[in-house]
Amino acid sequence: MNDPFFEEWHLKLAERVRAFGDKHLRAALQDESDPAGHTRQLALKLAEANLLPAAVAPPWGVMDVRSLVAVREALAYFSSLADSAFAMQGLGSYALSLVGTDVQKKRWLPAVARGDVLAAFAVTEPEAGSDLAAARTRARADGLVWRLRGVKTLISNAGIAGLYTVLARSADGDDPSGLSLFLVDAEAPGIVVNRLEAMAPHPLGEVRFEDTPAVLLGNEGKGYALALATLDAFRPSVGAAACGMAARAFDEALRWVQARRQFGHRLAEFQSVQMSLAEMHVDLEGARLLVRRAAWIKDGGAERIPREGAMAKLAATEMAQRVVDRAVQLHGGQGVMRGATVERLYREVRSLRIYEGTSEIQKLLIAREILKESR
Ligand SMILES: Cc1cc2nc3c(=O)[nH]c(=O)nc-3n(C[C@H](O)[C@H](O)[C@H](O)COP(=O)(O)OP(=O)(O)OC[C@H]3O[C@@H](n4cnc5c(N)ncnc54)[C@H](O)[C@@H]3O)c2cc1C
Repeated sequence: MNDPFFEEWHLKLAERVRAFGDKHLRAALQDESDPAGHTRQLALKLAEANLLPAAVAPPWGVMDVRSLVAVREALAYFSSLADSAFAMQGLGSYALSLVGTDVQKKRWLPAVARGDVLAAFAVTEPEAGSDLAAARTRARADGLVWRLRGVKTLISNAGIAGLYTVLARSADGDDPSGLSLFLVDAEAPGIVVNRLEAMAPHPLGEVRFEDTPAVLLGNEGKGYALALATLDAFRPSVGAAACGMAARAFDEALRWVQARRQFGHRLAEFQSVQMSLAEMHVDLEGARLLVRRAAWIKDGGAERIPREGAMAKLAATEMAQRVVDRAVQLHGGQGVMRGATVERLYREVRSLRIYEGTSEIQKLLIAREILKESR
């Protein structure tokens, strides 16, 4: 299918990921034990297929957001764990690709792109979620190194990451200008991880830093801006993952209503079911356009895409929740049975409206931009 925002090679890349998904991701979805172990295996498979470089900026280049978006939608269609294994390599290394020194980039970026090292992005704290600027993890200079002390929570890849990008307070006070980003090698002493279990499998945990040695990333005091720049670039891709999940739910529903008979007819023959299918389809296609447009604008050279990125994430994640819910409804009782694909999607899709900025925070970002533009 032609797409106004994708080049031919984005479509080919998505095709390659679909073939990968068909071959490697159709099985093993029912096993929800050990998401961290499965993430490791999935990262290896993605590395073997040479897909991880699409999530990671080359040491002296920029990340192509449309590639990120194309791969995430195609992966999330099959498996949200595979999507997360892929996306975290980018989220956890993006700030490094922006401001790292040559030595830092050489040390980490190729290893992350090869999948030898898993990456994590640790900004959330128990008392600093939506309000990232309230981060309390403390960074103090100790000779040539820095040492971190504090707790990060709800961290994807906690315990399996080899590299953590961590937001911490390097100066006294509450001002965002006192926050810096740090690189932490997971082999360093003073890291304690507690696994957390979410409603759908996800490699999630709390990470406690106890005077952990860390390396400053970029300039001191620029951590908050860098964390926001990372979220800004990755927002369309969360929307893309949502589109992938919604597309899968839609396909499952489509198959179901053509096979299931009630009152002597296939469900697809009832007009209200047809209305549902049409609405789901339009909902999905509309959100997909916003996602791809945001990625296209970023790839066109925009430094930041606060309005377009937030619109893409908000529209797509809210759409996916609606579409998956309707797919469950069209399945009737079978839709809530453990083992049904739509049941799994129903649980998996929920956190997309929360992570990397809740829907409410996206609305605040959009409104701020609208008000700024109308001044
Ligand atoms: C599966 C999953 C993976 C995650 N992975 C990571 C990760 O890798 N790294 C990381 O750092 N974090 C991660 N997070 C954390 C995530 O980014 C936070 O959960 C999110 O930012 C919300 O923060 P919070 O949970 O503290 O909620 P809170 O900020 O406490 O928000 C609670 C509610 O209040 C609303 N709210 C807050 N402020 C306002 C406001 N000003 N106006 C209106 N409503 C408001 C929110 O929208 C929400 O509905 C992950 C979370 C999940 C669920």
